[in-house]
Amino acid sequence: MSELQNIDSLFVANTYNRFPIEIKEGNGSILKDFNGKEYIDLGSGIGVTIFGINDKPWKDAVINQINTLQHASNLYYTKPCADLAKALCEKTGMKKVFFGNSGAEANECAIKVARKYAEEKKGNDYYKIITLVNSFHGRTITTLAATGQDVFHKSFTPLTDGFLYAKANDVDGLKELVKNNKVAAIMFECVQGEGGVLPLNADFIKAIDDICKSEDILMVVDEVQTGNGRTGKMYAYMNFGINPDIVSTAKGLGGGLPIGACLMNEKVQNVLKFGDHGSTFGGNPVACAGALSIVNRIDDKLLDDVKAKSEYVFNSLNGSEGIESVSGLGLMIGIKTVKPAKEVVLKCMEKGVICLTAKDKVRLLPALNINMEDLKKAVEIIKEVAKEN
Ligand SMILES: *Cc1c(COP(=O)(O)O)cnc(C)c1O
Repeated sequence: MSELQNIDSLFVANTYNRFPIEIKEGNGSILKDFNGKEYIDLGSGIGVTIFGINDKPWKDAVINQINTLQHASNLYYTKPCADLAKALCEKTGMKKVFFGNSGAEANECAIKVARKYAEEKKGNDYYKIITLVNSFHGRTITTLAATGQDVFHKSFTPLTDGFLYAKANDVDGLKELVKNNKVAAIMFECVQGEGGVLPLNADFIKAIDDICKSEDILMVVDEVQTGNGRTGKMYAYMNFGINPDIVSTAKGLGGGLPIGACLMNEKVQNVLKFGDHGSTFGGNPVACAGALSIVNRIDDKLLDDVKAKSEYVFNSLNGSEGIESVSGLGLMIGIKTVKPAKEVVLKCMEKGVICLTAKDKVRLLPALNINMEDLKKAVEIIKEVAKEN
């Protein structure tokens, strides 16, 4: 074990089973370790560095803001926070934004808004929130409760009360839950990320939309992983012709600094009042300046490019020896390999390609601007590894 790995394992909490590589630096979608070995990065730090490492516009925005004002708190007005909220609203038609520092916090805000809206509208017994089996919404006690996977709940009960789990794509099951409970909101990922890169059926999403409208239930879409261009639209819900009441996002929005955002439409924009919610770091000027440079570059040209690259990856992997299926949307891609996913990921790493896993799949979340040449090289290596004995 190297010196760095030794110190890390002695002093950093054992919550991460790290891969045995030490990343030193990078450029675009190329990462370099301390031995000078290069990797093509198809993980982008779990969907965060969507314009790659060493992204000049983002760096310029961040460094410029660092040289101006690093932090002020939410007691005062700061420009990057206001500008980013405006840009997000203009891109989505949403009306207000609350900033936190992570995906979990964005979802916490969404849950608080949903509970308060329902309490005021229907009474305080209307607090149930339906999420989906196999979902992932974060690691705090409440967002764990929202996460419909028992493995994450073990050892941390009692979790926050009030979450019900519907089976994805089971419209009748969902209707039954709504009928038998006092429901404030339905919360879902359009493509379940950690759950195995599984897009929901368009019919199921349409049914959620219908139910929410007819029952005055809030629709909350978790776009922490799917958002910010990842699926070929600014937000994944835009692929399905729906208009959520609340959208949470994080990961790619930050481009490399921590940020989370909860977007609220006209129906819920004024639910939170002075003192109802807050975050010391939320809306930090440096994080917001960086995020604004990201949001401003998610345009039709980039999104078309995401779709073209997605098509290339799907076509290239589908039917290749050792690959059972390919799922996902845009540049959020899950690969079911004959070999165990972890083994494929380790072999790819040896050969200079970094991939992620999600459940039993190999998961790809490359930078949206990865160049075609690197993408092709990496996909060829995945295919080679998947078919080798
Ligand atoms: C990653 C993720 C989260 C949690 O985000 P953190 O920033 O780790 O708190 C929540 N929801 C989804 C869909 C995610 O992919």
